Amino acid sequence: MAKPTLLFAVSEHLHYIKTGGLADVASALPKALERYYDVTLLMPLYDCMNTSPSLKEVANFSLTIDALHYRFTLYEAANTPYRTLFIYEANLCKVTQIYSGDVALRFALFSHAIAYIAQQSRFSVLSLHDWHTALAALFAKEKSFEGCIHFNIHNMLFQGVFALHNAAKLGISKRYLRFDALEFYDQLNFMKAGIIFSDLITTVSESYANALLQEPKAHGLASTLHYYKKKFYGVQNGLDMQEFDPMHDPMLQVNYDANTLQNRAQNRDYICNRFALPKTVALFAFIGRLNEQKGVLELIAWLQQETLHNATLLIIGEGDAQIAAQLRALQATQPNLHFFEGYDEALSRNIYGGCDFLLMPSRFEPSGLNQLIAMRYGAVVIAHDVDGLHDTIAPSATAPKQRGLLMPSLEPHHFSAAFSQAVALYEKRTELEALQRYTMSIDLGWQRSAARYHTLLSQSC
Ligand code: ADP
Repeated sequence: MAKPTLLFAVSEHLHYIKTGGLADVASALPKALERYYDVTLLMPLYDCMNTSPSLKEVANFSLTIDALHYRFTLYEAANTPYRTLFIYEANLCKVTQIYSGDVALRFALFSHAIAYIAQQSRFSVLSLHDWHTALAALFAKEKSFEGCIHFNIHNMLFQGVFALHNAAKLGISKRYLRFDALEFYDQLNFMKAGIIFSDLITTVSESYANALLQEPKAHGLASTLHYYKKKFYGVQNGLDMQEFDPMHDPMLQVNYDANTLQNRAQNRDYICNRFALPKTVALFAFIGRLNEQKGVLELIAWLQQETLHNATLLIIGEGDAQIAAQLRALQATQPNLHFFEGYDEALSRNIYGGCDFLLMPSRFEPSGLNQLIAMRYGAVVIAHDVDGLHDTIAPSATAPKQRGLLMPSLEPHHFSAAFSQAVALYEKRTELEALQRYTMSIDLGWQRSAARYHTLLSQSC
């Protein structure tokens, strides 16, 4: 029997353009869902994509929104692991960055196109990801789309909130400008459309799902989610075990697995040589966007009052200019701290594959990806005990042993305690290696989550 069809609509994808972890999910989850569905991925064909896929035009259509005609062209990419469609329209795609220009119009147009394609091709499931695609739930319902609408919240911090007067231009009917629809404190909230008009809402870990039922983590939408609680679930994000495999990662200096863990030391040497770091003390690393979410301010506050002993800390990241300046200033006073400013995928892989400890002091982390990569690459994670970090590191039914070190809060004394505990572990080689081998053996892949999505979708529609 033919599998049901699923349209997976998303604003970014690891192989074409990435601004965050959403791109990783967009690459891996459709692959896992192929077991149950005939998956088609749909994303915009931005002018500023890193990679240009080889494309064939498959359709074009016009949509009239607020008396203006928008002409869309649909392309299919060749040689992709699942069917991949790109949609082009000038207002949607002529951009230097995903988030430059008229962002509200861009993602409203994308959502109109998604709903149109879902309806025309009679997809069984429409799977929407974050606020960029949320309006498609409303537009699809307006078209009496008969399939099941799934909306996945990847990060509640970003909801797509714009001035109400945009509504007509975006093709949003006046009747939805009410508090029980898209209105949100006198503004227009795209995310609400996904929550209200979908048949199933998910978010990327169970703990984050619980957290979103309360403020402040729901950023104003806790009561809305409460109202729709019966269709709201947490499904843990997985890791693409092929993409992130220390045995076959071409970006690593030296490949290894749990049986050849000793070879990992060569990646460690490479990192230490490249940044002139001492090789004999524990090597800690932080990889991530420099912003408040990632807990960098708390890390800086701690480093301002504590000198690193018996440890080196390598920080790689880019983002907030003020945070970067603070890190540069700190580097001048802390001999054991090194800050690399920039985004460098190959370097990050070698850090995962060489450092002893990966630090994730995030204030909140819906799911978190870095800790999963670290576990797979044998770096011991030190993380704040919140949301997805809790769910993937604390002992659980599927992984009964502790998978890293959890900090109860981001108070300076908890950083000190975690570093001391880690340094002590570093000195007990056998224990450290046992933990590394254990985390490397855990199945962090997407199959379990894909099965859960399948069950939830089957129950929802
Ligand atoms: P978010 O989704 O909040 O952006 P995640 O932790 O989910 O963060 O994913 C971030 C991804 O980006 C991870 O794969 C991480 O390794 C990678 N990354 C973040 N900053 C950098 C950097 N400066 N250089 C290389 N890779 C980075």
